[in-house]
Parts: sequence; C-alpha cells; structure tokens
Amino acid sequence: MKGQSAGSQVVALGIDVGSTTVKIVGVDAEGNLAWHWLEQAEPRVEDQVERFLARAGVSVPLVATGYGRKLVRQATRSVTEITCHAKGVYRELAHGGTLVDIGGQDSKVIGISPRGDVTDFSMNDKCAAGTGRFLENTANRLGVPLERMGHVALLALEEVSISSTCTVFAESEVISLIAHGVAVEPILRGLHRSLIKRVVAMIRTVGLVPPLMLSGGVVQNQAIARMLEEETGEQVIVPRHPQLMGAYGAALIALGLPS
Ligand code: ADP
Repeated sequence: MKGQSAGSQVVALGIDVGSTTVKIVGVDAEGNLAWHWLEQAEPRVEDQVERFLARAGVSVPLVATGYGRKLVRQATRSVTEITCHAKGVYRELAHGGTLVDIGGQDSKVIGISPRGDVTDFSMNDKCAAGTGRFLENTANRLGVPLERMGHVALLALEEVSISSTCTVFAESEVISLIAHGVAVEPILRGLHRSLIKRVVAMIRTVGLVPPLMLSGGVVQNQAIARMLEEETGEQVIVPRHPQLMGAYGAALIALGLPS
C-alpha cells in the first residue's frame, strides 16, 4: 500500500500536515484506504507538500488537515484535525465513544456520537506533557529507541513514580534516577504512567463514553493502550493505521460520501 504513486483507484486525497509528521492518504470510490505516504515534517512545508502531491501523481479532490493545513494552497478545503480524526476513526471502527489522539506535540480527547458526530473535545497543544515529545525527550536519556519504549516499559516488574508531568523536570528526574542506579525498565514504566495520567485527566474533562478509541503516532507504542486500559478499566480499541486517521478522515471528506 505504501507504494510509489497513488494509482488509478484513488479518487480523493487527504493530507495531514502535523507538527511532527506529514501524512497523505488516498481513498477509492467506496472510501477504502487505498494508498498512503508518511515522512517526518520539514520546516519548508510548502515544498514538502508539493513533493507529496507529485508522488501521489493523481489530480483528484484534496482536503488538508493538521497544524499546517492552511499552508496547503492546493487543497480544495481545510478541515480541523478534530473533525478529520473523528471521521477517519468512525469509518474504521463504526461506532461512537471517546477518541484519544496522541500526536508528536499535542493530544486531544474527542467525544463521538453513535452517528459519528463530534459532541465535545479537549485539546492540549500548549505543553509537551501527554504527547509523544514527553516520552521521546525522556527516553532519549535512557538510550532506548522510540520503537522499543513501550515494549521495555511493559517488561518492568516494578514502577518508579515520576512526580513531574513537565517534560523538562521529568528529564531531570530521569537523570537523577539513572545516577542512583535505578534500572531503565521501571523508569520507563513510570514515564508512561505519567503520560497516561495526564491523558486520563483530559478524558475526565470531556467525560468517558466507552469504548475508548485511540489514534495518532504514539499509539503505535503498545504500552499506551495497555496502560490506558489499566488506568480507566475500560476496553481500548486501536484502528489498523492509527497515525493515518487524520489524513484518512480528510480524504473521506474530499470524497464527499454521505456518512
Ligand atoms: P503529529 O500528527 O502531531 O505530527 P503523529 O500522530 O504523526 O504526530 O505522531 C508522531 C509521534 O508518534 C512521534 O513524535 C513519536 O513520538 C510517535 N511514534 C511514531 N512511531 C512510533 C512508534 N513506533 N512507537 C512509539 N512512538 C511512535
């Protein structure tokens, strides 16, 4: 699916210009996710978008979403990430509930009605706590690659409590714990707990209507779903391509099928 160009089955595109990654998704006439491409976000958004569209190689309706959506001048429309994530996840999982999107530099909680409408939301884009950045910064200090953080955290038999939710202070705490000879696994587990507690506090402001659904790149970390289940006691469901849900929702809007 992650091929060179989109191919003739793609009849609409959605692009999600996030603060950390850029994603583009192509859908077929039935709204199935038919093609995608993902890269780390570059400072020159316009040039990167130009390259993404050249790679897609099709001239079809395009909807932009994400933090940099207004910079996509080729788009027929720009739509908020809240609407797009809700649309993508509703199409994938086919029911309402509470959606938590954890991205590289922000996180959101979105209430979705049984018919797929957004009923309420809360967003944190002011602080790295509760985002991918929180884990990345602190895990860097532990020398654990991003893709292994969740696995290593789940291996821990014990958990160290990290009292700071602030990334900068948590990093200092981690440095001090390492200096005191504490093992990596319990520290990582504590860092995940800190992120999850922050997310749960956001969930409470919107109200939890089960099931809990997840989207965003951070959800590829397997400890996130597991620990959210532990912390809330609710079932957590993750779509097949959590990081693509915003771009997928944008492509569905570009396609214009009735919901
Ligand atoms: P945004 O839309 O805000 O740009 P994404 O939803 O694309 O962000 O998420 C990007 C973040 O996902 C990265 O900063 C990283 O922390 C996290 N991430 C990506 N892949 C993985 C992975 N395999 N394991 C853990 N975290 C990941």
